[in-house]
Amino acid sequence: MSRIRFIAPAAALILAASSAMAAETPDFDYTVDRFADIEVLRYRVPDFENLSLDQKRLVYYLTEAAQWGRDILWDQNYRYNLPLRRMLEAVYTGYKGDRSDEQFRALETYLKQVWFANGIHHHYSMDKFAPAFSREWLQAQVAALPAGDWTPVQAEIMAAIFDPAVAPKRVNQADGQDLILTSANNMYEGVTQAEVEAYYAARKDTTDLTPVSHGLNTRVVKGADGRVHEQIYKLGGRYSDAIAHIVDNLTKAMAYAENDAQRMVIARLIDFYTTGDLKTFDDYSIRWAEDTASQVDFINGFIESYGDPLGMTGSWESIVNFKNIPASARTETLSANAQWFEDHSPVDPRFRKPEVKGVSAKVITAAILAGDAYPATPIGINLPNANWIRAAHGSKSVTLENITQAYDEASHGNGFNEEFVIDAPTRELLDKYLFITDNLHTDLHECLGHGSGRLMPGVDPDALKAHGSSIEEARADLFALYYLADPKLIELGLLDNPDAYKAEYYKYILNGLMTQLMRIEPGKDIEEAHMRNRQLIAAWAYEHGKKDKVIELVKRGGKTYVKINDYRKLRDLFGQLLAEIQRVRSEGDYEAGAALIEKYAVKVDPKLHREVLSRYAHLDIAPYKGFVNPVYRAVTDDNGIITDVTIDYSEDYIPQMLRLGRDYSGLK
Ligand code: ZN
Repeated sequence: MSRIRFIAPAAALILAASSAMAAETPDFDYTVDRFADIEVLRYRVPDFENLSLDQKRLVYYLTEAAQWGRDILWDQNYRYNLPLRRMLEAVYTGYKGDRSDEQFRALETYLKQVWFANGIHHHYSMDKFAPAFSREWLQAQVAALPAGDWTPVQAEIMAAIFDPAVAPKRVNQADGQDLILTSANNMYEGVTQAEVEAYYAARKDTTDLTPVSHGLNTRVVKGADGRVHEQIYKLGGRYSDAIAHIVDNLTKAMAYAENDAQRMVIARLIDFYTTGDLKTFDDYSIRWAEDTASQVDFINGFIESYGDPLGMTGSWESIVNFKNIPASARTETLSANAQWFEDHSPVDPRFRKPEVKGVSAKVITAAILAGDAYPATPIGINLPNANWIRAAHGSKSVTLENITQAYDEASHGNGFNEEFVIDAPTRELLDKYLFITDNLHTDLHECLGHGSGRLMPGVDPDALKAHGSSIEEARADLFALYYLADPKLIELGLLDNPDAYKAEYYKYILNGLMTQLMRIEPGKDIEEAHMRNRQLIAAWAYEHGKKDKVIELVKRGGKTYVKINDYRKLRDLFGQLLAEIQRVRSEGDYEAGAALIEKYAVKVDPKLHREVLSRYAHLDIAPYKGFVNPVYRAVTDDNGIITDVTIDYSEDYIPQMLRLGRDYSGLK
């Protein structure tokens, strides 16, 4: 999985950070805005000041390149998103009436939602937003404006906003429907799913061991002649005006590259934007994956394909970041000891890897989030996506720790802890150790867990079929849980207290047995792979520890609480389940895997589910969160040479969105 998203407070990192960390940032206000189902936060960029002047210049031009791609994503998401946004922003900024008026306030909320989603469809559910202002009211406001780029398509925009039947879903993945015709995204035009599939089938060479990522940077359309063809995103092609600004800033950034390898990475990316050639993109990806020496790093381009129902075309995104050197020592220590962990894993020795290589993993500080990574953002990334490149040249796995820290700090005092954690000593344990053990859990899962173990000869890697990803995530989670409690982590200097692991154990069981249910609608089963994996582990441990009362669900004042009586035995249970899950994976035992999933991972206790939903509702915690970026300003001398770059955290959500629309509108 190439992207780890923080979805809801129940998912991870829900509770308070260590008091030491809070003390470092006494006056930083993490909360920026709250509307609909969204909370907008801000994040710090620690140690930006300590970068060298050339690194700051590099970061500055890369952040400029990042912001110039914004409009590409808006257009990819839906064909009328850009004129629609400009029309609504013109109404919003030009409004002369009473700003506390109900219609105006409804417009403001709608616009905030549209900004957050980079278009009119919810960023997670993909459903279209429903406005709470009237069509007549908006018509009257637009009529008072001078003409704009929305004028020629105003009827289409009005239909998109108000008619529920128009473009209801951005990405539709319902089985049995034409996924292209029923998806509102703008990566296809005038073609059916069958036509697109036939088009790509004819172009794919299944014997090619180093295949390019077909369709990654194109829009597939049917011409007037009835011929299906691709419009390429490149200079001189589709999105040329925005790409020209990106290339201009990448060119400026290149002058301040940290070394020749990184300069070549940027040069090849510019070549790719210039030619649109996918072989060039692969060459760029390989060089990028192999550049582990540079401190400053970035993603910029058409990367993840979740926005395309067929998973071909990449949505434009950018993240600029630099390595958090002290925190990366943690992942480097784990990678350096990968063989020790493999050799001591509680699985049948036949299923261990004789020779294991740790993944190149680092902890990074995000400097800017853009495109499809903004305002909602991943907390971990593993790229490149092409399987053959990963196998032959490796991949980079990163954790965005200043983002996870912001989530964590912002959750202070949201009441979750008090509502769901059983008692004050457990809350104190979580306060003290959850942030570090949660991060270590992610590190163990990513650096070692997925890479551990091996398949028996002749076993099909896809033998577990639809249950493959739940089982695989369970395997990596169990590996991490098992080792979190190992004295080895203290010996390696990664933890300083033999009881620290209990914080993660408590949170994991609480989440898996109870709190993650807040994301499930009443009456529904659990479907998402990560949620299944977490319930599988928690419910299996609950049941298998029952006779020893390892975990109990106790009632207090009519509410259910998780009580863990024996953490050592819980660790043994994690080890036993890891051994079984590894066997299932190594032998490709589909029957046993399916039985585990069906018994423990899918069904929900309706009574407990209702209870969790109602307790959660009282807390009013936003299910989705995202971020505003800090503002970077270049200080220049008389020749235009940057002499310093300053960072400013004070910009709020609405001003930031209006500024981006005004200053970085790359597409007309
Ligand atoms: Zn994973």
